[in-house]
Amino acid sequence: MAVLFCAAAASSQSRPAADLIVVNAEVWTVDTNRPQAQAVAVLGERIVAVGTNAEVDAWRGPHTTVIDAAGKLLMPGFNDAHVHFVSGGLQLESVQLNDVTSREEFVRRIAEQAKKTPKGEWILNGDWDETKWPGATLPTKEWIDPVTVNNPVFVSRYDGHSSLANSAALKLAGVTARTPDPPGGTIVRDAQGNPTGDLKDAATALVERVIPPLSHEQRLRAVKGALRLAASVGVTSVQHMAPDYEDIAVYDELLQSNELTTRIYAAPLITQVDDQAKIGIRHAFGGPYLRIGALKAFADGSLGSRTAYFFEPFSDEPANHGLLGEEMQPLSLMRERMLKADAAGLQICTHAIGDQAISIVLDLYADAVKAHGAADRRFRIEHAQHMAAKDFARFADLGVVASVQPYHAIDDGRWAEARIGHDRASRTYAFRTFLNHGVHLAFGTDWDVAPLNPLLTIYAAVTRATLDGKNPNGWFPEQKLTVEEAVHAYTMGSAYAEFQDGEKGSITPGKLADMVLLSDDIFSIEPTKIREVKVLKTIVGSRVIWDSFRPQPYSTGN
Ligand SMILES: [Zn+2]
Repeated sequence: MAVLFCAAAASSQSRPAADLIVVNAEVWTVDTNRPQAQAVAVLGERIVAVGTNAEVDAWRGPHTTVIDAAGKLLMPGFNDAHVHFVSGGLQLESVQLNDVTSREEFVRRIAEQAKKTPKGEWILNGDWDETKWPGATLPTKEWIDPVTVNNPVFVSRYDGHSSLANSAALKLAGVTARTPDPPGGTIVRDAQGNPTGDLKDAATALVERVIPPLSHEQRLRAVKGALRLAASVGVTSVQHMAPDYEDIAVYDELLQSNELTTRIYAAPLITQVDDQAKIGIRHAFGGPYLRIGALKAFADGSLGSRTAYFFEPFSDEPANHGLLGEEMQPLSLMRERMLKADAAGLQICTHAIGDQAISIVLDLYADAVKAHGAADRRFRIEHAQHMAAKDFARFADLGVVASVQPYHAIDDGRWAEARIGHDRASRTYAFRTFLNHGVHLAFGTDWDVAPLNPLLTIYAAVTRATLDGKNPNGWFPEQKLTVEEAVHAYTMGSAYAEFQDGEKGSITPGKLADMVLLSDDIFSIEPTKIREVKVLKTIVGSRVIWDSFRPQPYSTGN
């Protein structure tokens, strides 16, 4: 009987049977040609049918895996346009300081980490945020020296723009009262001129250069941890900003062993532009799981560290309007690198947060267009946080993608207005204004700066409810997005930002079969509940890489 059935099925369909079928789903496709459907069929890596249960059932064969979605929401997998995947993975096993709300707790957690760290090994990461404890004073080496006698410490602020060293780390780095501030950086000093341990922006390099590089084993462990987390929160693609080349080698190793379960686009530093330019590859070079061909540049610092570069001074610090980053000094150096990258057809992604930094980057992008003529470049500005009113239209005219992280809005929204005033805050994380001007939005998290969970980001973009609970109706509510717009930015928007909108970003026949099944319908529930929504299944290609009913993420081999 089985044999007869097979033969009949094969002859009547004259096409191969699907590897995977999802039926009884509430499918949100993010495809305007067919926004909603009931079922999806997948053959190999790709979607072959989207339609009603009956239409898709025609693809069923004897070996097809069938998932009954029981009416749950199925949508394209999330594509995080800005992550630091390896630091994220490392952070999963590092000291966690982000939720620390007192000096005592800060010291206790560092002491605990020191106890489990071998003598001489560095204690790193942390993501502390001084605004979360009383007085908001920066931590100093005196806090932690007594509990870290055996280990150098260099724990970072959550935005990565300043870090705290203990005395052992300063000693290894040779940083003393006589060390001058490097260009684009600050060594924070006490009244006597001695370093307190806090180093800002370019000054962090003084210590970073003496930290031993990660071993291959450490990197591999970090990436595996990051892949497990990504699968569990429905992230099927990430765009890794500023990876080391060794990170890319680890991705390739995992790709070869069939363990790379998240698709990766890697954008190494623009200071290394010659490497990619000389091979002759262009943007989005590679395969469905691993691509390169982009470069990450830095124009300024962050709002939190008061190093974002503004036209006007900070409202609460009249002598300071921020810093241009080291790569921008002199500006001609950055222009030269960008022109070289653009001539080679590489994509440029520039971190710019303050309004003047963004404006200067737009000038540089315009220079490249002028020099080399029209082309599909998809220049990006990462963060694009504080916009000058005059620059929205220019952003759109140059076709620049705003690669934004809405979670930062509900986090920084707690204190940003005190720092930059009402007028500038009204053009901060201005997602609605970007869309009104026809700017392409790509969503991401900046993980490990913010949580990787995309539902928190959707929640942030839709509610703009700050984490302190003080803006339940939204901080600058006119900038809220609808759930549909937020989902679009997180799927098609991010795919566009990596030149992959023809390959992924929607549930469309022919595209890669990256999908998530959610516990609730985010389009119909109360927006405040979106942050509680769980990912039930994550599908990449035809592989189910996360299944919360069997909470063991997918892995091949061992
Ligand atoms: Zn970043």
